[in-house]
Amino acid sequence: MLESIKSTDTRTDPYKVYLQEDEIPTAFYNVRADMHTAHAPILHPGTLQPVELADLEPVFCTELAKQELNTTDRYIDIPGAVMDFYRMYRPSPLVRAYYLEKALDTPAKIYYKYEGGNTSGSHKLNSAIAQAYYAKQQGLAGITTETGAGQWGTALAMASVYFGLDLEVYMVKASYEQKPYRKTIMRTYGASITASPSDTTNVGRTMLAEYPDSLGSLGTAISEAVEVALASNGTKRYTLGSVLNQVLLHQSIIGLEAKAALEKLNVYPDIVIGCAGGGSNLGGLMSSYMEDRLAGRKAPYFIAVEPASCPSLTRGRFAYDFCDTGMVTPLAKMYTLGHAFMPSPSHAGGLRYHGMSPILSQLYHDGLLDEARSVEQTEVFEAAVQFARSEGTLPAPESAHAIHATIQEALKCRESGEEKVILFGLTGNGLLDLSAYEQYLTGTMSDTIPTDEDLARGFATIPSLPGIQ
Ligand SMILES: *Cc1c(COP(=O)(O)O)cnc(C)c1O
Repeated sequence: MLESIKSTDTRTDPYKVYLQEDEIPTAFYNVRADMHTAHAPILHPGTLQPVELADLEPVFCTELAKQELNTTDRYIDIPGAVMDFYRMYRPSPLVRAYYLEKALDTPAKIYYKYEGGNTSGSHKLNSAIAQAYYAKQQGLAGITTETGAGQWGTALAMASVYFGLDLEVYMVKASYEQKPYRKTIMRTYGASITASPSDTTNVGRTMLAEYPDSLGSLGTAISEAVEVALASNGTKRYTLGSVLNQVLLHQSIIGLEAKAALEKLNVYPDIVIGCAGGGSNLGGLMSSYMEDRLAGRKAPYFIAVEPASCPSLTRGRFAYDFCDTGMVTPLAKMYTLGHAFMPSPSHAGGLRYHGMSPILSQLYHDGLLDEARSVEQTEVFEAAVQFARSEGTLPAPESAHAIHATIQEALKCRESGEEKVILFGLTGNGLLDLSAYEQYLTGTMSDTIPTDEDLARGFATIPSLPGIQ
């Protein structure tokens, strides 16, 4: 009997690596300073000229607008007040997925960087803190934003209350109705929330007039939040939780920490995998390894994983498009399904954006981000359940896309006998996604993959810009 309560563990490497607090990186890494081909400039929607600082300043606070345009500084210091907040929940753990390896009977070594341990439940807090800080520093009264699945709104609510800013969140109506607990968290942190489309903005009213039953989209919610910021007489600015260069910059902290932790184990990954919605967690996770690749050193094989229901990298076009449905934002050259593309409702709300970060898009176009894969919802949840049952942590549906690809790669290693090292981003926990898990477990979840005709309707909304595209 006694035998059975003894640990059977004979492993020598630790299960988790936590950096010391004084090892948290003190500067963000700006991959744009090293990219061989800069991404095409972002264009002003009215003049179609590359945007300048003055164009961005009415929308974003000045320091963030500067970061958006910064192609020269490789490292940008993290302000002390941002570091102070990071110390509440960082460093985040780097975990060896021993139990998953065992369940898969694979010789692969699997590591994941877990960003879901804070109350917002995802990596989005890393950028929310920086954005709220710069807004406060500029003396603004408040900020506006949109949220889809709710993780970004929650993260920004936490950051806004910490720095003493008002926050107005436009929440995609489908999520507003399906995710009551997200609203409760945001309100707990003092944010005010409006379901989008709403009758509080011109964009929202136009949308409602045309589609009274619209359940909204991220693109529409963005248009509403931007409109409110622009109408505030300069007292508010808009913030965005993904896609933008500044967000990838802030998320580089994930990759810098992951690399530092793996170096302690003398480990260099062969494969780095991340789910890709707007591209910020993957951009962040791979940043310090992309630095190696861009410098001509060895680098891992990078894989982006997206839902088959919203396949911007795998089936989208690399073209200039608006970042929002209402066409009030600038145009970015990116992989896009067309700004009016409406993905079918899926449970990975964080991956339902029509476009992809211009940085990731350019890296993918240049073959520096090696591969993009799309996966269907039910297989994603199968991977999520397997992960939860073996590793204990309940993953966010978004993160489970990366888990799915990790399992596929680990099973290839089982076939070939290779001991590859896989690093993936576990971007969030799934505690507020239980209705999705319920559907999966009761067999009522379906997969909706857009047909070529569905995609063609979206592509038809990509603007044709004489002389540009
Ligand atoms: C928002 C979100 C994502 C996707 O966004 P990216 O900008 O592509 O990282 C992934 N996972 C979680 C948990 C999220 O909240």
